[in-house]
Amino acid sequence: MFTPLHYTHCPGCHSDKIQYALTAKDHTVSKEDFDIWHCNQCSLRFTQDVPTIDQIGPFYQSENYISHSNTKKGFINQLYHLVRNYTLGSKARLIKKYSGLSTGRLLDIGAGVGAFAANMKGQGWHTTALEPDTNARAEAKKQYGIDLLLPNELYLFTPQHFDVITMWHVLEHVHDLQGYWKNFHRILPVGGKLVIAVPNYTSGDAANYGSYWAAYDVPRHLYHFSPASMAELAGMHGFSIVATKAMWFDSFYVAMLSEQYQNGVTRYFAAFWQGFKSNLAALANPNKCSSVIYILQKN
Ligand SMILES: [Zn+2]
Repeated sequence: MFTPLHYTHCPGCHSDKIQYALTAKDHTVSKEDFDIWHCNQCSLRFTQDVPTIDQIGPFYQSENYISHSNTKKGFINQLYHLVRNYTLGSKARLIKKYSGLSTGRLLDIGAGVGAFAANMKGQGWHTTALEPDTNARAEAKKQYGIDLLLPNELYLFTPQHFDVITMWHVLEHVHDLQGYWKNFHRILPVGGKLVIAVPNYTSGDAANYGSYWAAYDVPRHLYHFSPASMAELAGMHGFSIVATKAMWFDSFYVAMLSEQYQNGVTRYFAAFWQGFKSNLAALANPNKCSSVIYILQKN
């Protein structure tokens, strides 16, 4: 057992107007239950009594943890790899469009096995990538020949060192939330872009699956963002949201996993239907998608 990190204030906006919201299970590794709390001020949700940064390591020890292992076992994982090749291209286009640069200085935080960083490097970007997991760093070296640095490098870069920072499903894992934002502001120039992709607990699939919603992924996901809470956090740290984009595949992927958690099997049709409904809502408003990409700019 561990001595957990107990929040008395919202880890986003620091309000003390926080309360219990629901309990979710760690389906991937420990099978333990964790409580999720809600901030009535900014609407951020956060996993309460989470393992500290020194204690959370074992909760990532699973060969099912795909972003570290690159496993191709099973249908859902194979699909993940197929789609990743497509999304690598669309991520690169998004970076170029919003930065207005065809090449530049990119920092990818939480690079996993380095697929995105390697792709951007291949397109001529001066790319630096950070990743805490030893196996993922070794895999990145083996597969793509790139060296990923440890996350503490974030605190050491010189001011305005990058044009763009990306975090693809990473910010929800970061213990030092406020410290990371302070550094985003420090190492980007005015007008520099920050691209953050995170799950959205205000999506249709989150509402449908309740505590079985796979993107709660406790205790690895320390925070559960709503579009409103992201806007609040960004404003506190001198950033504005310039665009939001839906992540279409995430709706299906998260629905398939949620089906598995809820019913013990993946009801593929039900998952597809739920993913489709989330995406339909997200067509009109990206803030309704299962996962949202926030494109932010330093003021
Ligand atoms: Zn709050």
